Amino acid sequence: MISKYYLWTVGCQMNKADSDKLAAGFDRMGLKATDRMERADIVVLNTCSVRQHAEDRAYSKLGRVRELKAEKPALKVALMGCMVGLKTDDLEKRFPHVDVFARPQQFDGILGLIESPHEDLGGEFWPSTYAIPEGPAAYVPVVHGCNKFCTYCIVPYRRGREKSRPLDEIVREVAYLTVHGVREVTLLGQTVEAYGHDLPDQPDLGDLMRALSALEKLHRIRFLTSYPKDMTHRILEAVAELPKVMECFSLPIQAGSDSVLDSMRRGYSRAEYTAKVTEVRGLMPDAGITTDIIVGYPGETDEDFEATCHLLEELRFDKVHVAAYSPRPGTIAFRKMEDDVPANVKADRLHRVEELEERISQEINLGYVGSSQQILIEGVRKEQPFGRTRTGKLVHLDAPARVGSLVDVRIAHAGPFSLRGAVEDSLALV
Ligand code: SAM
Ligand code: SF4
Repeated sequence: MISKYYLWTVGCQMNKADSDKLAAGFDRMGLKATDRMERADIVVLNTCSVRQHAEDRAYSKLGRVRELKAEKPALKVALMGCMVGLKTDDLEKRFPHVDVFARPQQFDGILGLIESPHEDLGGEFWPSTYAIPEGPAAYVPVVHGCNKFCTYCIVPYRRGREKSRPLDEIVREVAYLTVHGVREVTLLGQTVEAYGHDLPDQPDLGDLMRALSALEKLHRIRFLTSYPKDMTHRILEAVAELPKVMECFSLPIQAGSDSVLDSMRRGYSRAEYTAKVTEVRGLMPDAGITTDIIVGYPGETDEDFEATCHLLEELRFDKVHVAAYSPRPGTIAFRKMEDDVPANVKADRLHRVEELEERISQEINLGYVGSSQQILIEGVRKEQPFGRTRTGKLVHLDAPARVGSLVDVRIAHAGPFSLRGAVEDSLALV
């Protein structure tokens, strides 16, 4: 009899959302969650494959599960997420103690492990099964998969092609979330502006945000991750016009050199990307913009890397997520390019981007000191409430504030990674 489940998750917000959905399904079937693997009847590892480091974490977890299953042969084990491709022969050979390998969102095989009869939960996206939110801010996947096939990236092979959820289904889910205390949603997609192109009447992300804006108890809407070529002027105008949509963009560039961008098959040049940032800032001068950078991509020269540093100086992002190139078997880069930038050079470049970015973020954040910012109180850590500005900056508060409330905060201190301030006014909207 399976009554307790242990669910372990690494990776992006999409993985977190998938796990929440699976947990909601388990809960609906009467199972109870446990945070101790030893106490579980079923263990699910929801994995990430974007970089080797993330896979290594899953391997170490799989080692522990192997020991546990030797002690308790009835234990059911599922490996889910981006480590699972179309073919699972290799994984089956390496991990015979795993009962089911499930690709992202392919929950049926996992549910099949549970002997008690279960109802049909509605297919791939379980339209009628929603996760109970953990706080006032929730993630909502709106478009799954990716069609872009950047040379270094495993995601399209593991998450499949872009597939949008029907607009009314998303509105229903968000309405449910607001009844359970959610006041801010982050709309998720690997390329979130691709939303809707595959639906019958082709709504775009702006149409979706407009429909969600009509939900009275929802106060703020975010979206990520943006792909420059999919980000149309129409969508940007909707972001600028709709008061509930936050001026907050996650817009990965990956490299500042045209030859590297070209080799990555990103589909835009440095100048086109820069024009997109200019367009965003033209419509929303205070917008917060973060980006992603890969250093040490095959063939990246010192000049290419300097071009990336110059770009960071020129565009001044609020935050940069930087990663060293990690060859991913199955990708175009893995098959066709040599991983020829030595590890120590990758580490130096990574460090330089981090240093550069810390300085720029600190300078930008100092500009917030003295200003008044709208914050949604998301939670309390070490007795300090925290939340984010409309531009995505993390803010810690000096005095108690109610979780879920929308407050105006006067910023008093700024560090490179967060701000600190005191509540001036609680807005009427709670
Ligand atoms: N869709 C988004 C985009 O277009 O940039 C990002 C999704 S990807 C899962 C998240 C980030 O992981 C990427 O922005 C990239 O910087 C990083 N990444 C992906 N593949 C990588 C690789 N092979 N090595 C290092 N970093 C990688
Ligand atoms: Fe990966 Fe490129 Fe798709 Fe982003 S757009 S998920 S980097 S293939």
